[in-house]
Amino acid sequence: MLTARIKQIKPSPTLAIDTKAKAMLAQGIDIVNFGIGEPDFDTPENIKEAAIKAIRDGFTRYTPVGGIPELKEAIVQKFKRDNSLAYKHEEIIVGCGGKHALYNLFQVLFEKGHEVIVPTPYWVSYPPMLQLADATPVIVPTPEANGFKLTPEVLKAHLTPRTKGLILNSPSNPTGSVYSREELAALAEVILAHKLLVVSDDIYEKILFDGQQFVNLAQLDPELKKLTFILNGVSKTYAMTGWRIGYLAGDATVIKAMTNLQSQSTSNPTSIAQKAAAEAISGPQDTVDRMVTEFAWRRDDILARLAKIPGVECVKPGGAFYVFPNFAHYYQKIKADKEGSYSDPLANYLLEEAHVALVAGIGFGEDKCIRFSYATSRERIATGLERIQGALDKLA
Ligand SMILES: *Cc1c(COP(=O)(O)O)cnc(C)c1O
Repeated sequence: MLTARIKQIKPSPTLAIDTKAKAMLAQGIDIVNFGIGEPDFDTPENIKEAAIKAIRDGFTRYTPVGGIPELKEAIVQKFKRDNSLAYKHEEIIVGCGGKHALYNLFQVLFEKGHEVIVPTPYWVSYPPMLQLADATPVIVPTPEANGFKLTPEVLKAHLTPRTKGLILNSPSNPTGSVYSREELAALAEVILAHKLLVVSDDIYEKILFDGQQFVNLAQLDPELKKLTFILNGVSKTYAMTGWRIGYLAGDATVIKAMTNLQSQSTSNPTSIAQKAAAEAISGPQDTVDRMVTEFAWRRDDILARLAKIPGVECVKPGGAFYVFPNFAHYYQKIKADKEGSYSDPLANYLLEEAHVALVAGIGFGEDKCIRFSYATSRERIATGLERIQGALDKLA
């Protein structure tokens, strides 16, 4: 009964582990959950109040498909303030989450015969979303020694006459790696020479440590800005994953086509959530600072604990709330699964033996590693890492 199109799509692996962990929790098992890809903080009060006010004011009807002017204006001001980038309202679209905006972008930008470079490790949804647009994801391994970041040499080696675009995600999910201005500038030469369209997934822009300054490709040069589509949203920055508001900025023709697609599918994102997002983006930002300070503490703590486990190595993340340590040392002690993956059986072993939920690296295209989300309390991090240490000792 199902189409070939949908048969090639597997459920998101990050959601799969969450389902299994939740089932164990329901049986009363105490699970330390490092699987979740969302902040463990509550949505700030001022944002909730804006939504409640919207309901009370009767702001509960259809809105313009691509977002209310008030929210678009907040986004325009945000790009000006944070990124020194000038966009007009017609260059912005608001979607039902960043994921939705990205899906619509791929539908509008890519088609059969187009190759799109996806550096590994990648966010789990990029390849299936490209497949749903009939495009070919070109999975490009990146050097671990370079923090799993793409280099101009590696990029060049994978270009063909069919290469249409490139996806960049900094800070990265799952590695937390951050591209510096110099690294982006080096990639920019190749991008400009081949007129590649760039999807810049900036969703973790604000979750950045060690006093770093965020930079994306569009900021480097006006020509690059024309080729770049910036994805951002409120889910991660303001702990608003359930509200489903994301946005995308770029070429007006593309935004208009995305708006057409949206008008024939989902229509506008939720009216109430749009009001809340406008408050999130233009209201006080002190809750973001507090959250980032806490994430930075946890990053240092989890890195210190991982460093004590023999054979485990980990790239130091500069942002987001993930670490992506290399567990290959332990793979000789376990059996690969049918697909030849070791990270999946090891993550399963750690769930069953240590009652710790993690996401296997295979879902991100890097089987050597396993992803930890440290969007959980300091105490749970300590407990979880102790349990992992114990379970790995048993393997040895
Ligand atoms: C969470 C996430 C998104 C989008 O999240 P939404 O909740 O759909 O806005 C996009 N890219 C990456 C890398 C993410 O981790």
